[in-house]
Amino acid sequence: MTENTVLQLGNPLLRQIATPVTVFNSPEFLDCLSSMQTLMESGNGVGIAAPQIGVAMQIVIVASRPTNRYPDAPEMPATILCNPQLEILDPTLIKGWEGCLSVPGIRALVPRYQAIRVRFQDREGKSQQIDLKDFPARVFQHEFDHLQGLVYLDRIESSRDIVAESEYLKLIAH
Ligand SMILES: [Zn+2]
Repeated sequence: MTENTVLQLGNPLLRQIATPVTVFNSPEFLDCLSSMQTLMESGNGVGIAAPQIGVAMQIVIVASRPTNRYPDAPEMPATILCNPQLEILDPTLIKGWEGCLSVPGIRALVPRYQAIRVRFQDREGKSQQIDLKDFPARVFQHEFDHLQGLVYLDRIESSRDIVAESEYLKLIAH
């Protein structure tokens, strides 16, 4: 069942482990994709994962683009990644700001790998591969964590790396 809102931190469905997509043209799969897209866009998000709408399937969308939440994000076409597998290309961990549609009102600095390769299936079930670095790599790693029942707050080094969104907006307004 898909929700028509993004699940919020504390909802146990966000802590489920997602299972692989096996049928790529079922009404449930297509309905899930369209709900994910709608809720990501209406929330000005740059990515979303199926568990955030209550569906424990391995589907993420990465859609880096400048929004009022991420004014400096690079533009890339929205990419649907099913059953993704992560390979680390550059193990350097870089701290950068993240937020989450499931955790409104705060931002935190999160260490992520700088460059990754992702093998995945597209919405037709065809095998694909994409190399990502910097911000889009960060977005993918954030969404990939949702498939394991993790949120970005599970990855921070210190509670001092958490700020209110209003303070984050001041920090980036330079
Ligand atoms: Zn998130």
